[in-house]
Amino acid sequence: MSPVIGVLAIQGDVREHAHCLTELGAQVRLVKTAEQLVGLAGLVIPGGESTTMSILAVKNQLIEPLRELRAQIPMYGSCAGLIMLANTITDGRSDQQTIGGLDICAKRNAFGRQVDSFEIDLKIPAIGEPDFHAIFIRAPLVESASDAVEVLAAIPGERSLTGSEQIVAVRQGNLMATSFHPEITSDLRIHKYFVEMVRSA
Ligand code: GLN
Repeated sequence: MSPVIGVLAIQGDVREHAHCLTELGAQVRLVKTAEQLVGLAGLVIPGGESTTMSILAVKNQLIEPLRELRAQIPMYGSCAGLIMLANTITDGRSDQQTIGGLDICAKRNAFGRQVDSFEIDLKIPAIGEPDFHAIFIRAPLVESASDAVEVLAAIPGERSLTGSEQIVAVRQGNLMATSFHPEITSDLRIHKYFVEMVRSA
């Protein structure tokens, strides 16, 4: 049976994630309320705008149910979704709430104005060859990660603007996040990796 995977559908590029998951044979449920979280095998938090997403999640009384659920089912966050899954954030709104769970500090809009958006081919051993064409749109950076966090991808120092390595994809147990947006490419390997996490959870 194909697993039912939710896409948090209060803000952001919901449709693109739903499309990727459907292509991979998952059943997709768009989630706007806590009731719709019941029975999910996994959940995707899309890219969008994390401050708006946070405000709407609070308004829809989703923060606490999502915090409970992240200990129970796999979750994947892209871009703003990465910020939502971070335990701490820098450059957020003072009242910005996250679901948390990933022991990382995410810096919002970390890549500077002149490179608000950029694309780069990344080595991601967990999904194999070839390199993944990663698209970053006002993306967050994983500024720091605890030892419990597995780094899935980083921009190597020699290719980053700062000259030091920049972590852009992580996994910790059932939680995974990317700074970039695989949902707007036709390469389904990141979503496939997540669907496999869900199937084996
Ligand atoms: N800059 C956005 C934020 O802080 C994230 C951008 C994105 O999801 N493309 O929420």
